[in-house]
Amino acid sequence: MLPVEQSCYWLASRQGYNPSAPLTEKVDADYAVVGGGFTGLWTALFLKQLEPGAHVVVVESSVAGYGASGRNAGIVSNSIDHSHALAISHFGKPEAERLAKIGMQNISEMEEFAVDCDFERSGQLQVALKPGHLEDCKHNLEVANEIGLAGYRMLSREEMQAEVNSPLYLGGLFVPGGGILNPIKLVDRIVGEMKRLGVVIYENTRVNRIGDGVLHCQKGDIRAKKIVMATDAYTHHLLPQLLWRFIPLYDYILVTDPLTAEQKEQIRWHHRQGMVDGRTFFNYYRLTADNRILWGTSEAVYYPPNKVDATCDHSEHHYRTLKESFAKHFPYLNGMQFPFGWGGPIASTTRLTPFFGTMNGGRVIYGLGYTGHGIGTTRLAGKIMAHLALSKDSELLSLKMVTDKPFPYPPEPIRGMSVAAVTRSLQKVDAGESPNILLRILDKMGIGFSS
Ligand SMILES: Cc1cc2nc3c(=O)[nH]c(=O)nc-3n(C[C@H](O)[C@H](O)[C@H](O)COP(=O)(O)OP(=O)(O)OC[C@H]3O[C@@H](n4cnc5c(N)ncnc54)[C@H](O)[C@@H]3O)c2cc1C
Repeated sequence: MLPVEQSCYWLASRQGYNPSAPLTEKVDADYAVVGGGFTGLWTALFLKQLEPGAHVVVVESSVAGYGASGRNAGIVSNSIDHSHALAISHFGKPEAERLAKIGMQNISEMEEFAVDCDFERSGQLQVALKPGHLEDCKHNLEVANEIGLAGYRMLSREEMQAEVNSPLYLGGLFVPGGGILNPIKLVDRIVGEMKRLGVVIYENTRVNRIGDGVLHCQKGDIRAKKIVMATDAYTHHLLPQLLWRFIPLYDYILVTDPLTAEQKEQIRWHHRQGMVDGRTFFNYYRLTADNRILWGTSEAVYYPPNKVDATCDHSEHHYRTLKESFAKHFPYLNGMQFPFGWGGPIASTTRLTPFFGTMNGGRVIYGLGYTGHGIGTTRLAGKIMAHLALSKDSELLSLKMVTDKPFPYPPEPIRGMSVAAVTRSLQKVDAGESPNILLRILDKMGIGFSS
């Protein structure tokens, strides 16, 4: 299997990126950010914008975008709360309305910033593969109306098939506001802007240990007034005490060869929406700028005990099931090749939204747990953590997502066993069975498991 730098379509097709030099000495900084993904890069950018005179550094163990930020599907959803219905059940309706508004404004600001990132505000289609999914679509439409979001629209079977040609579609829901982008171009855009403002990034520099206000790296140390942890699914490697609030999981994706003109004609997809289906373990998919199909699965895997490393970057099992589901969706694309395949780590929480906090007397700030919905939310996380680090007020700091912590996960070995049991139960629901007692109890407790 190829290393992820070659097997991930975005990383492999990255153009003209020159990583910055690693850290080789002792340096002082005002703010040191660990992690060069969206969260860390946005945080550094906002820190520098809010306090231009500050010395801000970012430390990345590989190259910027090596983690989930360079490996995701690039489907930008219009929400920062996983789903508006979940936001109501976890935080109440007024907070869900607030999150919906903030989420939409965030995407518009991101679009303005994301020049040359192939950002298309094409919206999203939630497709129904079973009659029950149509009910879910209707529910999502009602929830959107309830919290003041306009433009959602149910699509009949004919309308859905006219958008994208699959014999499996029974109809669905058009969700406006979001779209698709090239995630690695967004990473490079933030890095470029951040450096232009004077932020220093040390790439190929792993933080081995956090001391009292010091990041101990391979060949140098950084002493900083404040440290921001932006390491999402990798966070427990440095802060194991946060592990009970999140679980690291792996998601997998395939990308086809570019569609021929004839295949494009067959599949239609003229409006280029990001697509998801109504199952718990759903497929998510989209067209790339050069008209390949990116085909992913949310059947996320937990590798006990909380493993996050390069040995998880590929899964033959997932590639096989992804190819099978692709063939069922688009039988007329029989024989299509998938030259790219990869996985990436996400951090999930029991409420499926991120959490934030500080430790070491406020000197260390952290934020993580975006599940598979982080493109929009990480930008807000960057704002939140920049304000926390600067001890500056912001309306974002009163979000319940920031003030409240998610219900904890159990430690190992119960963690591994319970994830396996929940996964099996959810697979049965997707196969048509009713939710079993375990799922009903978790539902009552407001505990989720999904990417
Ligand atoms: C396969 C996949 C598909 C996805 N699809 C979507 C999607 O379509 N839409 C969406 O909104 N979201 C999606 N996501 C989720 C989204 O990509 C993430 O939520 C988001 O990128 C998280 O960003 P981050 O910066 O917090 O974490 P990351 O991008 O993972 O960045 C963390 C960084 O920290 C670095 N690091 C770790 N440890 C250290 C250390 N000790 N020292 C220095 N650096 C360190 C890592 O190398 C990494 O670069 C997907 C994720 C995956 C994996």
